[in-house]
Amino acid sequence: MRILISNDDGYLAPGIVALANALREIAEITVVAPDSNRSGASNALTLDRPLSVQRADNGFYFVNGTPSDCVHIALTSLMPVLPDLVVSGINQGQNMGDDTLYSGTVAAATEAFLFGIPAIAFSQVDKAWSHLDSAARIAREFAQRDFARFSRPFLLNVNIPNVPYAEIKGTRATRLGKRHVSEPVIQATDPHGRQIYWIGPPGAAKDAGEGSDFHATSENYVSVTPLQVDLTNYSQIHDLARDLT
Ligand code: MN
Repeated sequence: MRILISNDDGYLAPGIVALANALREIAEITVVAPDSNRSGASNALTLDRPLSVQRADNGFYFVNGTPSDCVHIALTSLMPVLPDLVVSGINQGQNMGDDTLYSGTVAAATEAFLFGIPAIAFSQVDKAWSHLDSAARIAREFAQRDFARFSRPFLLNVNIPNVPYAEIKGTRATRLGKRHVSEPVIQATDPHGRQIYWIGPPGAAKDAGEGSDFHATSENYVSVTPLQVDLTNYSQIHDLARDLT
């Protein structure tokens, strides 16, 4: 089995090192990740400048671009044989509910999915990098599943509670929860007296009910949400067409 690994926290992040070490035991791995933390990059591709690829001492490739750039370059240029699976993460922090739209971790997996390759995004719920061994073990178990009922390609969003492996209660198939609108931006003044803005934290969970990703992880279950890319609101097409006549 060949597995391409990427992330959005950068090639030096503990999460991608743990993921690579866990998957090296079961597959031929290639790691291509951003040279710096690109969390929140979503599906951005870099179109206004060329990109370069360098190789670190540990064999990881790093790119001065986004997570989507990394997977795009890996699949179209760096890998002579396409991988059987692309994994992203393990992200520092959850990617649940509406967060998935902004996530570079999910985006790296989505880029592979758009190329027709099965892909899984892995995130840890808390940002502490705690119990990474537990999360890496769970990621390896996912990579070894055959998902026989799924048509190919599939795109899975996995969120893992930061607890010891023995405290994980199991795995639940979930829907994305929903959040309230984001908290306000944080305003400050820079040393030159100019107004600056930091994007604030996301809103509190609005739909964290039974069956949601928020609910599963809050009860120490691994949450797995099958994702799709088509944003069309099919239920509105008919009414829209009538309004347009
Ligand atoms: Mn991240």
